[in-house]
Amino acid sequence: RCSLESGKNLSLDNSFDAGLNLMARSDVQTCTYWRAPIIWEEMFDPQFYDEMHKKQGSSVALTVFAVGRYLDAYLSDFLNSSERFFMVGLPVTYYVFTDFPEKVPKLNLPADRSLKVIRVEKQARWQDVSMMRMKTISDFIRSDIGRRCTHVFCFDVDQVFNGRFGSEALGDSVALLHAYYYRLPKVMFTYDRNPRSKAFLNTGDFYYHAAVFGGKCESVKAMVDACYQGIMEDKKNNVEALWHDESHLNKYLWVHKPSRVLSPEYCWDPLIGNSSDIRVQRLLWRQKQYQELRTP
Ligand code: UDP
Ligand code: MN
Repeated sequence: RCSLESGKNLSLDNSFDAGLNLMARSDVQTCTYWRAPIIWEEMFDPQFYDEMHKKQGSSVALTVFAVGRYLDAYLSDFLNSSERFFMVGLPVTYYVFTDFPEKVPKLNLPADRSLKVIRVEKQARWQDVSMMRMKTISDFIRSDIGRRCTHVFCFDVDQVFNGRFGSEALGDSVALLHAYYYRLPKVMFTYDRNPRSKAFLNTGDFYYHAAVFGGKCESVKAMVDACYQGIMEDKKNNVEALWHDESHLNKYLWVHKPSRVLSPEYCWDPLIGNSSDIRVQRLLWRQKQYQELRTP
């Protein structure tokens, strides 16, 4: 058995990891070198985590942005599917950030789940919509989420839940392996390679996907604050990281290792097709008509 479970060399999330069996999957990497678990189907007992988190009083905020054309294109399917699959059994508060609050679909929510709609300015460039999420999330963790919830998960809207995305994913700081890069050699990772950017990264551990990240409120606050600081510094210096907020997130997670890593089962692109690694496709990328969506 892995030392993670035997109580030696404890991971940062050790109090929860009695529910994990790192040997259950021999076809994939289930543990990072700094001893954070990488969560794959068959490694965990869902009931164990659900009961543990209920007992601990965990409550989860989900943040999602639907600005401009993204609202009509994706928000309804995103929210309806998350009601079926996201943290079922735990109290959940949705934070929907949009420039068009009136158009947010009405959901029929059970008593322990609620939805808040927050108006945000529409940025002229889609890159700025994406990057400025970091600032907005930080402000809301401080003023609202941090007082109501123990954990927060931040999602892109252009995806749809398709399987359990449950309490096994909760941890101190949680990052997702990008579906296109988890099998590739590190030289292929698309980190920002411009030394003038704060996101500059030569080597890293993994290529993380910014479409999903989360953790305890104060850890996510630190994460988004650092990313926002890097983004603003870059603006001052007239540079922009290759993949915007994702580049800054990758830089942050190199310096501050995540305590829990989600396998690409937690965010899969159906265009890749089926893979024997991916036993459950819990969240799926949606197709994107980039030109139409992103032209104002
Ligand atoms: N977004 C938005 N309106 C925009 C651009 C982005 O609401 O005009 C939000 C939306 O939640 C989207 C996320 O920012 O999922 C990231 O942008 P996008 O999904 O286009 O980036 P990609 O996944 O292609 O890198
Ligand atoms: Mn996206």
